[in-house]
Amino acid sequence: MKYMKKSFSNMVPYHSKLITEGIILNANESPILPPAKVVDEIKKNILNIEFNRYPDMDEVELNKAIAKRYNVKPENVSCGVGSDELLDVVFRATLEPGDTVVGFVPSFSMYQVFAELVGAKYVPVLGDENNIFNVDDMIKAIKENNPKLVLICTPNNPTGQYFSEEDVRKIIESTDALIALDLAYIDFAKKDYYYLGIEYDNVIAFKTFSKAMALPSIRVGYAISKKENIDMIDAIKAPYSVSTISQIIAKIAIENFDLYKGQIKMIINERENLYNELIKLGFKVYKSEANFIYVLFDDKYNDALLRNKIYIRRFKSGVYRITVGSQYENEKLLEVLKNEK
Ligand code: PMP
Repeated sequence: MKYMKKSFSNMVPYHSKLITEGIILNANESPILPPAKVVDEIKKNILNIEFNRYPDMDEVELNKAIAKRYNVKPENVSCGVGSDELLDVVFRATLEPGDTVVGFVPSFSMYQVFAELVGAKYVPVLGDENNIFNVDDMIKAIKENNPKLVLICTPNNPTGQYFSEEDVRKIIESTDALIALDLAYIDFAKKDYYYLGIEYDNVIAFKTFSKAMALPSIRVGYAISKKENIDMIDAIKAPYSVSTISQIIAKIAIENFDLYKGQIKMIINERENLYNELIKLGFKVYKSEANFIYVLFDDKYNDALLRNKIYIRRFKSGVYRITVGSQYENEKLLEVLKNEK
């Protein structure tokens, strides 16, 4: 790449071919659309958009709706083009080249990319021999490395581990560093502790419409934090980044959050069933509180799934992440795995 600056010379374009047929269990998406009433409301409302106008740069109506749902003030909320944009903004807003970031590994791979883009050093905190993370290891790494930014993804992508509120508080209270608390999958877990973003000065909680809200197509994520941290995000974020159509759709979805409860419960039930069945098949499977399961098995199983047009996420040889699908999709997956035994 002729014009790329030297410090980016190891960057490569990120492509993922859009799969449109078969059973798609590779991207932690919802197997079903949002609830019917939400889809109906969306259809009605997008007809009235003033397509000739820019979006509301401050996402006033959407931020109000999010604030109402979480019982916070609109000044405590900011939206972005997926939580991806907001995470990127926070890395850029807080880190100078050479600064240090601490995070568990393996976790969401973009954290390391964002760190690299700003020239920060990423210090990984590894799990034990079973890839289970220990909060005390994180606190030790923070003490030793004096980071400016700490990443906590809970439940963690890709291992599914959920950290208790008590453990997360322990990390937060151990440091003055800014904590990016990534709650992308928390609606599938025991308890949502988004309020930590409001309670502590050094926490920004990130959530998204892409997972439990079944709307990755609209690319909307949001941050919940003290006004000062939200102002920091808004100072750096590109103006008009969240389109009008996305703001309208996200607002309808969050106002109808209660209607999602049934489908979230369905996915949790399917996850537990899939977990038990994968254990019965003798694979190394990780307990998950998200909408995916981390599993170690021979590559021959993935080959068999591919022959049957079933797509899961491969990290490296023997290491996979399966998104929980519908009952039908999970049964198909299990059938192929059983036949390969
Ligand atoms: N955080 C985590 C842990 C994720 O897995 C993802 C998406 N895979 C994101 C953030 C970004 O989500 P989005 O940009 O769709 O909101």
